[in-house]
Amino acid sequence: MALIVQKYGGTSVGSVERINAVVDKILATRAQGHDLVVVVSAMSGETDRLLKLAKSFTDPPNPRELDVILTTGEQVTIGLLSIALEARGCPARSYTGGQVRILTDSAFNKARILEIDSDRVRVDLSLNRVVVVAGFQGVDAQGNITTLGRGGSDTTAVALAAALKADECQIYTDVDGVYTTDPRIVPQARRLDRICFEEMLEMASLGSKVLQIRSVEFASKYNVPLRVLSSFVEGPGTLIAPEDQTMEQVLISGIAFSRDEAKLTMLGVPDKPGIASQILGEVADANIEVDMIIQNIGADGLTDFTFTVHRNDYKKALDLLRNKAVVLGIREVRGDNRIAKISVVGLGMRSHAGVASIMFKALANEGINIQMISTSEIKISVVVDEKYLELGVRALHEAFHLDEPPVKQ
Ligand code: ADP
Ligand code: ASP
Ligand code: MG
Repeated sequence: MALIVQKYGGTSVGSVERINAVVDKILATRAQGHDLVVVVSAMSGETDRLLKLAKSFTDPPNPRELDVILTTGEQVTIGLLSIALEARGCPARSYTGGQVRILTDSAFNKARILEIDSDRVRVDLSLNRVVVVAGFQGVDAQGNITTLGRGGSDTTAVALAAALKADECQIYTDVDGVYTTDPRIVPQARRLDRICFEEMLEMASLGSKVLQIRSVEFASKYNVPLRVLSSFVEGPGTLIAPEDQTMEQVLISGIAFSRDEAKLTMLGVPDKPGIASQILGEVADANIEVDMIIQNIGADGLTDFTFTVHRNDYKKALDLLRNKAVVLGIREVRGDNRIAKISVVGLGMRSHAGVASIMFKALANEGINIQMISTSEIKISVVVDEKYLELGVRALHEAFHLDEPPVKQ
């Protein structure tokens, strides 16, 4: 007998019929003798609907009140699923994040889990109940309701699995595993049997929304066996696990991309010590996170400086730099929020050269101009015009033969 934490995403609980299908899965797991904690998301589209409603009066809305609103989505689903389970003869009990004491910090809209009090869950499990927990939410030390950022139910599930020392955390979603890239963009994308934490972390942080990045961080830190599976079709899914010898020895494991990007360019910046720290210091003080940074070789004592931010912060960053241009000694500030980032990820890059040249050639063959490049040990990212995103991802998927089963090396 094992303890399993299952998480069902928005599409998986998107209607009464689908909730009934989730009940079937839960009953099947129980029939094998396992204890079960189930984390659910809001019904598909609900979080977006609530977000839009909250913005009716002012944008951005008060972050504390936004969390009060957004958490209702998951609260509806836990109640519905518990009723549905009991209607089929399965004892169940629902809990909001606050009730099960998922203690977070007070960073509304993007809170971090600090602690989980699992005693209550254990009591219910000992009474043979399925424990149904609302994903994406918690409570801070003052009792304020918080949310964990978009996609946060994945993190609730993994954090609960870690706190309960569960045998496996299963993420049920609308795809049957982690693919070489988003199968909605590249239909030839291939499901991976396994992917290691390090690669999955890069994929998630570079835009693959199949798992929230913090859920992968938690799983890696507490060694939680994590599996992504489909709610709709049977199959082994994808295991996310520590790196080991049996993993596919390939150069590139996957391609991630993100449209949530914007670029700011400062022209005619004095080329002197301290200028980068001055500009980026102002940006950091405004709580804007910077991703890629480029500074050109200067000429005539002047240089150009470009960096990217999340698209949500674009206007704020542009206004800030334009307002401070004179004090910072910047001649001109230009912005572009129609850019996208494409990244290739793979542990194989650590020991093989040549990935960059394959990547740049494939993009050049499609006439796609690369605006910025950044690299790390296991990834290369490029910024391109947003309109070339899909073409670029497809070209790279083909160039790295990701649709073909890997050749054993
Ligand atoms: P849920 O509501 O179940 O949490 P999400 O929409 O958050 O589901 O995540 C699943 C989606 O992630 C898939 O429908 C797919 O379009 C997208 N996705 C992005 N990259 C990948 C990838 N590499 N492998 C699988 N799915 C991916
Ligand atoms: N409902 C939240 C969202 O849509 C959390 C989640 O589904 O993981 O982002
Ligand atoms: Mg999700």
